[in-house]
Amino acid sequence: MVLCQPKDRIREAFNFLGVFDGESNVPSMSYAVVGGGINGLAVARQLLLDNPEAKVTLFEKEASVAQHQTSHNSGVVHAGLYYAKGSLKARLCRRGVALLRAYCQSHQLPYDQCGKLVVALTEIEEKRLQALFQIALDNEVPGVRMLYGEQIKEVEPNCVGVAALYSPETAIVSYEAIAKQLAQEITERGGTILLNCSVQSLTNQGEQVQVMLTTGAYPEMFDRAVSCAGLQSDRLAMQSGDEPEPKIVPFFGQYFVLDEAYTDQVKGLIYPVPDPKYPFLGVHFTKRIDGRMTIGPNAFLSSARENYDGKGVNWQDVRDYLGFAGFWRFSLRNIPAALREFKTVLSQQQFIAEATKYVPSLATMTVQTATRGIRAQAMDNQGHLVDDFVIRRDRHITHIRNAPSPGATSSLAIAEYIVREVMTAKS
Ligand SMILES: Cc1cc2nc3c(=O)[nH]c(=O)nc-3n(C[C@H](O)[C@H](O)[C@H](O)COP(=O)(O)OP(=O)(O)OC[C@H]3O[C@@H](n4cnc5c(N)ncnc54)[C@H](O)[C@@H]3O)c2cc1C
Repeated sequence: MVLCQPKDRIREAFNFLGVFDGESNVPSMSYAVVGGGINGLAVARQLLLDNPEAKVTLFEKEASVAQHQTSHNSGVVHAGLYYAKGSLKARLCRRGVALLRAYCQSHQLPYDQCGKLVVALTEIEEKRLQALFQIALDNEVPGVRMLYGEQIKEVEPNCVGVAALYSPETAIVSYEAIAKQLAQEITERGGTILLNCSVQSLTNQGEQVQVMLTTGAYPEMFDRAVSCAGLQSDRLAMQSGDEPEPKIVPFFGQYFVLDEAYTDQVKGLIYPVPDPKYPFLGVHFTKRIDGRMTIGPNAFLSSARENYDGKGVNWQDVRDYLGFAGFWRFSLRNIPAALREFKTVLSQQQFIAEATKYVPSLATMTVQTATRGIRAQAMDNQGHLVDDFVIRRDRHITHIRNAPSPGATSSLAIAEYIVREVMTAKS
């Protein structure tokens, strides 16, 4: 697409909105960004924002942007309740919320600060919830407080529990809509988005990076490259000479939509207390920005990295994790959790039962099957699920190797971090 306004006028407008804060140190180079999910788009935009003269080309293998994790998630803007102090997640999530809220406001994109409860059903869970409360305080999450017994009903009249952690700032958005807005902004700022363009490898060659497409073509040389390939990130990294680990092991999460008659039983977001051994947040009630109410996602091993109807197997994807020692170590350690999740895969009743422990008035609700999401979850060779974001640079190529939830919440901050810190750091 073609640039529609002079770049300095766009810069002026963004200065006025306070979006561009003048910290530009991005040289006027050429940049290749791989991946048209929210992270790749955010990185491409940040490069153009920090230096309107930069030549930015984004490669996306699908026919349109945001076809994978970015459009198959819970749509929650996480406030920062769960992330260990000092982690990248803790830092970039809090910054990400501020940037995302401002972005939605300045582009008239819906942002609903509906609030969230994390609910303990037992005293053991309550102890874990207290630990979570401390993390939220450490992360300076605004407005968080503990609620007990009947106080829970003041926020969610139909919710039961021993105690709950209330986060009034947690919000919902459409990450797909935000990604499409970012794509539009990139082209308006003079960047190029190449669709149906799958990258095979990125190679440091002297002071430049060679991009090779899966067609075997070499479009041109770039000065710098950033790979934000989500579910394919480990493969592209390996093909580009980066370390084989962490590996992506795909875990799907099924969602169901409540029939309309039941939607008003829950006002915002109701989550269980997460299992500390597992990085997934558990089946939760999620209000959607379009007014629907969903339950999900569970978490179980996927038979393909990019198959959202759950039918069929991608043998290459399956062989990849079956041949990975870390996967077997993980599996042996997590048999109880896997069995618990598998019950919700086999039985819709079981799935609903998990959710309605928190809202018993919905025990007889009817639901429709919605889409799955598939998590690009990184795992190390010891079989540990990598919790924090992993962003690595190999000379002129930067790879996002792990960006699970809250990766969408944090996307604008991840982009800032990559462009202003990782890419400019002395190696
Ligand atoms: C079930 C589920 C629920 C979640 N809920 C939330 C939530 O509520 N809040 C939150 O903040 N986060 C959530 N997340 C996490 C969030 O969705 C991700 O962190 C985020 O979308 C990652 O964005 P991305 O751009 O890195 O990856 P993706 O959106 O997966 O995009 C990667 C892109 O790279 C492209 N690509 C891959 N390989 C190549 C190649 N070789 N050449 C060219 N293009 C390529 C793909 O086609 C794709 O478009 C959830 C994730 C899942 C799966």
